[in-house]
Amino acid sequence: MNFSSKLLENAVGEFTKLPGIGQKTALRLVLHLLDQDREDVDRFSRSMTKLRNEIQHCRVCHNISDYTVCEVCSSHRRDRGTICVVEDTRDVMAIENTNQYSGVYHVLGGLISPMDGVGPTDLQVDSLIERIRDGEVKEVIFALSATMEGDTTVFYLHKKLKDFNINLSTIARGIAFGGELEYVDEITLGRSITTRVPYENSLAR
Ligand SMILES: [Zn+2]
Repeated sequence: MNFSSKLLENAVGEFTKLPGIGQKTALRLVLHLLDQDREDVDRFSRSMTKLRNEIQHCRVCHNISDYTVCEVCSSHRRDRGTICVVEDTRDVMAIENTNQYSGVYHVLGGLISPMDGVGPTDLQVDSLIERIRDGEVKEVIFALSATMEGDTTVFYLHKKLKDFNINLSTIARGIAFGGELEYVDEITLGRSITTRVPYENSLAR
């Protein structure tokens, strides 16, 4: 693509670094921004910078948060005896949208994937075990995608947690047909959480 301006070319170049954005789309977005008021574009870039500089990870559950302890972890309405283990913040959002879950979360920050060189130590596994050692936890629900990585991760966590005196359950795996939780509709996802099954039973299906 031949650009009439180096500034334009640079801006388009930045947008093409985003996932799913090709050069044509990038150019359309940049030209759109050029049509906006300066204040709007300022607000846009300030919001991105602020996000990157100020975002925190909850020190309890590791979810993305504005505070050192997120709103779910600090709410007295949530049941701290139940921890739902998820891959990332999108899963927390999906489950929160169902309004069917009143426990707390633990965000692993990924799934075990030997192919991609991701092992248990790259994930928030130790801090999950710490939380369970603290003694308040009665149930851990695995809500991970029904992919090979999801299964491997659940299997690993189950091995690590089975000797604690807690219930280990999993959401109905059939619902996440190889996709991620964020793509499942709210009713189905909500139902799969309320009708969760003990992990052992999920293997025997
Ligand atoms: Zn939290």
